[in-house]
Amino acid sequence: MPTIAWIGLGLMGNPMSKHLIKAGYTVRGFDIDPGACERAAGDGVEMASGIADAVADADVVYSMLPSGSDVHEVMTGSNGVFANARPGTMVIDCSTIGIDYARKLHEAASSTGVVFVEAPVSGGTEGARDGTLTFMIGCEKRHAGKAKEMLQPLGDYIAYVGGAGTGQAAKVVNNLIMGVCVTVNCEATALGQRLGLDMKEFFEIATRSSADNWSFRLWNPAPNVVPDAPSSHDYKAGFKTWLLAKDLQLAVEAAREVGVVLETAKTAHKLMTSHADSGGADMDATSLVLHLSGKK
Ligand code: NAD
Repeated sequence: MPTIAWIGLGLMGNPMSKHLIKAGYTVRGFDIDPGACERAAGDGVEMASGIADAVADADVVYSMLPSGSDVHEVMTGSNGVFANARPGTMVIDCSTIGIDYARKLHEAASSTGVVFVEAPVSGGTEGARDGTLTFMIGCEKRHAGKAKEMLQPLGDYIAYVGGAGTGQAAKVVNNLIMGVCVTVNCEATALGQRLGLDMKEFFEIATRSSADNWSFRLWNPAPNVVPDAPSSHDYKAGFKTWLLAKDLQLAVEAAREVGVVLETAKTAHKLMTSHADSGGADMDATSLVLHLSGKK
C-alpha cells in the first residue's frame, strides 16, 4: 500500500484523512495547530514533526489548507513539499485556492519532478465525514487515472475537468452559486424571523417550493430547524465565514479577469467580509444571519 502524507488536518482534512486510514493506508500528517494534531493523532494519523518529515517517505501527499497563499507556502517553501518529496510523488491539493494559484503551483511543480494535481472539493464537512465529496480534478490527463484512484475512498463523484486551473475554475463557479445561496438564505431567514414566521414550518414550505436549495436544506441559518446544522450548535463551523468570503472574492477576481459582471457575488462578498470583520470570521458562514439581524 502507498504511504500517504496529509498536510492540514482541520475541519475537512481530519475527516477526509480518516477514510484513507480506514482504506488501509498509513497516513503521516502535519498541522501547525496543536489541537488539530491531537485530534488527528487520536484518529490514527501518525504525526510528523514538520512538512519535510511528513512527506519524505510518502508516495502520495494530500493537502487541505485554508487559502492559496497557505498552499503556495507549504508547497514551495524551502522546508516545503516540493523540496522534500521524492521525484514522482503525486501531490493532491484539495483546498480552494483559485485559478491563478493553481496555475502557479503546476508551473512550480514541473521543475521538481513532483506530479501536482488540483482537486478542490464540494460537499462540506458532512461530505468529508461520509466520504461523499465531489472532486474537481485539474492536471495533465495522463495523471488523472491515478488521482481518481487515490481520491476514490473520499468521494462519490470524481470529475476530471481538464488541465492546469480547470479544477479550480469549476470550484470557483460552484462556490459562486453556493456563496450567494448561503447569503440570501441568511437574508431570507432574518426577514422571516422579523416577520414572525415559524421557521420550522417555513423550512417545510420552502423545501417543497421554488426557494429550495442545497445549503438551505443542510445549513439552514435558523437555529433548531435542522438538528445537524451549525445554526443549531451556536453557529460553530462548518464552513468558516472568512473562507466563504475568500471563495466569493475568487469568483469576483476570476470574473474581472475575463470580463463578466458579477454584482450579486460582489454584494455577498461585502456582507460576508463585514460580518467576518465584526468578529464572525471563524464562526460558520450562516451566522451572517446574526449580523443581518443586528445581533452581532
Ligand atoms: P480549517 O481552517 O478547519 O482547516 C485548515 C487547517 O490547515 C487548520 O487546521 C490549520 O491549522 C491548517 N494549516 C494552516 N496553515 C498550515 C500550514 N502552513 N501547515 C500545516 N497546516 C496548516 O479549514 P477547512 O474548513 O478544513 O477548509 C480547508 C479548505 O477546504 C479551504 O480551502 C476551504 O475553502 C475548503 N473547503 C471547506 C469546506 C467546509 O465546509 N469547511 C468545504 C469545501 C471546501
